[in-house]
Amino acid sequence: MPAQLLAQQDAAAQTQSPPAAPQAPPAQTPPSQAPAPAPPEAAGSSAEKAPKPAEAPKPPVHRFWDQTNSYLFAGVLGARYLDFASTLNARRRGLDEALLNNETVDNHAAFAVIEFAGAATSVGVSYLFHRYGHHSLERWTSIIHISVATFGAGRNFLLKTPHPAPPPGG
Ligand SMILES: [Zn+2]
Repeated sequence: MPAQLLAQQDAAAQTQSPPAAPQAPPAQTPPSQAPAPAPPEAAGSSAEKAPKPAEAPKPPVHRFWDQTNSYLFAGVLGARYLDFASTLNARRRGLDEALLNNETVDNHAAFAVIEFAGAATSVGVSYLFHRYGHHSLERWTSIIHISVATFGAGRNFLLKTPHPAPPPGG
């Protein structure tokens, strides 16, 4: 390579690298200005028609233990108690327990714990729905639970006793 060409390249390289521009200081935002003085409050009813912020406010999330849930959970407990009582009623009449077994339901304390655990599980499922924002499903968990348990209890009470009563005076 001719020396002249090398020199030209050298010069070109020098001219092509401009000096680094000094870094501009970050634009500093001035301290927030003093808020504008609030407009004088309009007198009378026109104050209620103040313009609302453009963003629609979120619907308020209810507390988990609000009145509705309190009633629903009481209903679940009541329905569970109905199931408990109706099952024992059926057992006294010599009917067999369909879902659990006779030994379990004949141990009344254990059976009561199972019924209570069922109600507590239902409340827990409701809480999960509430936690993740499914407030309608949250309610329906209790409503369906009450319906199913009450229906089952009614069915227990309506089950026919297998042994016919002895004829009167017989
Ligand atoms: Zn909820």
